[in-house]
Amino acid sequence: MQLWRADWIHHEGTFRRDHALLIGDEGRIAACGPRAEVEALAGDAEVRELAGRAIAPGTISAHSHAFQVFLRGAGDHPASFPDWVSRYLYPLLERLDDDSLEAAALLCFHQMLRAGITTVGEFHYVHNGVDFAGRAGELSRIVIRAARKVGLRIAFISTLYDVKQRTGQGRMARPAAEAVSEIRGLARELAGDPFVTVLPAPHSLHGATRASIEAGAALAEELDTRWHIHLAEQEDDVPFAQERHGARPLEVLERWGVLSERTVLVHGIWLSPEERALLAERGGGLVTNPTTNMALGDGIAPLRDLLDRGVSVGLGTDMNAAPNVLTELRTAEYLQRVQSLEMGRLPRVGGAEPDPAVLWRLATTHGAELLGVEAGALAAGQWADLLVIDLADPSLLPGSLLGGDALLNLLSSSMVPETALAETWVGGRCVATRGEVAGLPLDELRARVAAAAALGA
Ligand SMILES: [Zn+2]
Repeated sequence: MQLWRADWIHHEGTFRRDHALLIGDEGRIAACGPRAEVEALAGDAEVRELAGRAIAPGTISAHSHAFQVFLRGAGDHPASFPDWVSRYLYPLLERLDDDSLEAAALLCFHQMLRAGITTVGEFHYVHNGVDFAGRAGELSRIVIRAARKVGLRIAFISTLYDVKQRTGQGRMARPAAEAVSEIRGLARELAGDPFVTVLPAPHSLHGATRASIEAGAALAEELDTRWHIHLAEQEDDVPFAQERHGARPLEVLERWGVLSERTVLVHGIWLSPEERALLAERGGGLVTNPTTNMALGDGIAPLRDLLDRGVSVGLGTDMNAAPNVLTELRTAEYLQRVQSLEMGRLPRVGGAEPDPAVLWRLATTHGAELLGVEAGALAAGQWADLLVIDLADPSLLPGSLLGGDALLNLLSSSMVPETALAETWVGGRCVATRGEVAGLPLDELRARVAAAAALGA
């Protein structure tokens, strides 16, 4: 066991002084709390004194498409979302061979660790080879292996995608029964793996048929997990659902009898007030992706209203132009300000006085809940997924001299993780030190990316 002492330790909603952390040999937190209480349990644990440091839980990106990092620099100025899909996304998919998929995942996951992300919810939909032959099992393992190599915890969200109307969809489409059997097999194979969780996800109302969506919801029940689905991202998704299925997007799920506390919507920007009430009533959750939503011209998610109604909201880095959950957190709040022309929107959920802990939960515990991982808080029984923060980093001054809520505010308002993070830990193992990822040296990463055949088209 290891007993850690630091200037500030995040515990029960804020950074606290005179606290300590006890990490068990199996990689979980054995205790966190006031120093005297934790030390009484420490026995002969090895002691680590972290002067000038704060310890925080790692952040969680609850929605990511890792391979989309290969759109950076090329797909930045499309005319519209459909244009982005047709001219950039689908052509990339058509040339993304195994080595390219792996290189993209390594690049994305490496950068996530450097940004203080310790769990990714990887929404994966590349199930077929470049010749469109079914190779779901191998392609899933390539992505999971990339997360394992860098040391990132992965909730592997595997899609059911059975609509094939365009060539680009040839990489994704497979019969629902085949998807269920592959996802079930993967979940069984990886059950008990401390670093991997498997969840099903019917892709969306335009990528999955009713049969696929029902099968995904049933599989989540069987596996006892949540299930994710893209919903109401673009304004056009509403008339699409109405024309195709005779109701607004969330009402379609309700009519089909699949909407439940296991359902996690990705985006939900264009949900009506009635649909938001329905989501809250059924106990469903939502992942918001503010930077991607801005980049793709999607709109602004009604986060204040959703949180007021008690919906659990997590944050995603989605297209991963610059994966960083703390940036997403800041952006989520700022977009609410721009829309409402008021300040302190999300921290005022539940009361008149702002509480930064409300904001912080979006980046940590809510994401963990939506992915079904035991992480996101420094508490007994959780995985020791944590950040060792250098309080002297200029991006944290001057608030780091004050600690407490001031420090909490700095994380979401000014911290540059790439310089302020001294160490990143996942499952009780140090996976990155000062931006150097132990499992994947920078030179190796650069060589892998440079050799990727999917580039340069
Ligand atoms: Zn997505």
